[in-house]
Amino acid sequence: MLRRVLLAASASQRVRRVITTAPVTRSVVRRFVAGETASEALRVVERLLSEGLTVTLDYLGEDTAEPEHAAAVAQEYITLIEMLNAGGLTAGGRAEVSVKPTAVGLGLPDFGEETAAENITKICIAAQAAGTTVTLDMEDHTRVEATLRLVGQVRADYPDLGCVLQSYLRRTPGDCEALAVAGSRVRLCKGAYSAPDGVAFAARAEVDRNYARCMRILLEGNGYPMLATHDPRLIAIAHSRASELGRQPSSFEYQMLYGIRPDEQRRLAAEGAQVRVYVPYGDDWYGYLVRRLAERPANLMFFLRALRSRS
Ligand SMILES: Cc1cc2nc3c(=O)[nH]c(=O)nc-3n(C[C@H](O)[C@H](O)[C@H](O)COP(=O)(O)OP(=O)(O)OC[C@H]3O[C@@H](n4cnc5c(N)ncnc54)[C@H](O)[C@@H]3O)c2cc1C
Repeated sequence: MLRRVLLAASASQRVRRVITTAPVTRSVVRRFVAGETASEALRVVERLLSEGLTVTLDYLGEDTAEPEHAAAVAQEYITLIEMLNAGGLTAGGRAEVSVKPTAVGLGLPDFGEETAAENITKICIAAQAAGTTVTLDMEDHTRVEATLRLVGQVRADYPDLGCVLQSYLRRTPGDCEALAVAGSRVRLCKGAYSAPDGVAFAARAEVDRNYARCMRILLEGNGYPMLATHDPRLIAIAHSRASELGRQPSSFEYQMLYGIRPDEQRRLAAEGAQVRVYVPYGDDWYGYLVRRLAERPANLMFFLRALRSRS
């Protein structure tokens, strides 16, 4: 409930102004965001790789309103991939990128899907040349059909394009069945957006149960599951299910967000699991920050207390 209210309030320009201009926001942003520029993000990537982790980089921004901006976002990713490659960081897919479909054009009033497909293809071309991969993030429930169409279309030429499924959506077990095929990289997360009851589960327990069910489908299938959660219970279930199925540690990976449970990231990696950290960077961090605050009351309270004590 709190999460829904927060996500809805975050659309207000007034709330946005208060959050983005408060001095304390900077320190909270620094916890979750690796910097404003690609060079700053690269320093974080080098450190994470040296700790035995892998990464996926996200250039922050969403809901692009102009085709020129969508093209500029694609160019930022291409330059980023070239920088990662020049630094020897892409070998074996150790550093890859995550792209939001609406950042590269999905949602533009005219030819949105075509623009997004062209931009994603350009990013995939750069990633393939650098020996790495691209994963398409999943945004709110109204984008799911179009995003899955994009995945199907671009995978015809770039089969290692990853996609994301969200366990808060009732439809997701069916999508997992369809996508748990050889070579298919699928990230499973709970879902960070709000959605009406008809399409999504409202209760946390139901979202978690659906996650466990979807995870089982992916682990039993022939694809490459990317289990994106910080939830200790689900990580324990993943571990035992993968062992029962005889899945090699190299045949799936855990994923977590930069700044969240870093000790657990290192613990899993030290045990021999593959762990990928989602590393966002850029100055358009507002939507990302609000989603992180909304999913954990403790983060929100910390933020509000700091806001009050310094205002
Ligand atoms: C790699 C990755 C990629 C993602 N990509 C997408 C995407 O494309 N689309 C999408 O909708 N969502 C995405 N998400 C977000 C995801 O949907 C969840 O909103 C988020 O991961 C929190 O869910 P959880 O599974 O960690 O479980 P929760 O039940 O939210 O949390 C479980 C535990 O994790 C810890 N934790 C969780 N969140 C936080 C936090 N913000 N701060 C501190 N501790 C925390 C706490 O210990 C908590 O008890 C992604 C998440 C990850 C890890």
